Amino acid sequence: TPDSGDAKNLRIKLVLLGDSGVGKSCIVLRFVRGQFDASSKVTVGASFLSQTVTLQDTTVKFEIWDTAGQERYASLAPLYYRGASAATVVYDITNVESFQKAKFWVKELQKHGSPGIVMALVGNKADLRVDRAVNVEEAQAYADQNGMFFIETSAKTADNINELFESIARRLPRGPG
Ligand code: GDP
Ligand code: MG
Repeated sequence: TPDSGDAKNLRIKLVLLGDSGVGKSCIVLRFVRGQFDASSKVTVGASFLSQTVTLQDTTVKFEIWDTAGQERYASLAPLYYRGASAATVVYDITNVESFQKAKFWVKELQKHGSPGIVMALVGNKADLRVDRAVNVEEAQAYADQNGMFFIETSAKTADNINELFESIARRLPRGPG
């Protein structure tokens, strides 16, 4: 869209869904702090971290919810993603089971998520491609069928981490004007 001249500031709740161990917390820490800690512990607390992405005329402040437990207690998940305008559903490219679980979360979001929620399908641990178990083509096709954006990332090498959040930011509705 042409530059309207007036900058916008958006504050967006973003949730991460996906199996335990796929790298959700590492993605957040890479994005927010630029760090990767291979010995990172299971998710800390229930608060959120925030980070800002600046597009041409819009500043998007992501409030990223990364609470532990949503993986195991599916019944709690609707509370977790209530009010979320964006969701990333993460799997591990070396783990087929985590891809099946990602599909489960996509269906949950379609049933219970906010209308118009921007969803990204994220194949993490792309640095481990020698052990790849999920094809790019299969994941891309699934994402296309479900109106999602697809990307492979590595929290370890930082590959595509900023691109993930920038792509979500670009897909957010901007509202009137
Ligand atoms: P979560 O349970 O989904 O939050 O997963 P974590 O972020 O705690 O990560 C689980 C494990 O995967 C940790 O041992 C991380 O070091 C490792 N991990 C996370 N992201 C990557 C990645 O991109 N590449 C590799 N090789 N390991 C990763
Ligand atoms: Mg975690």
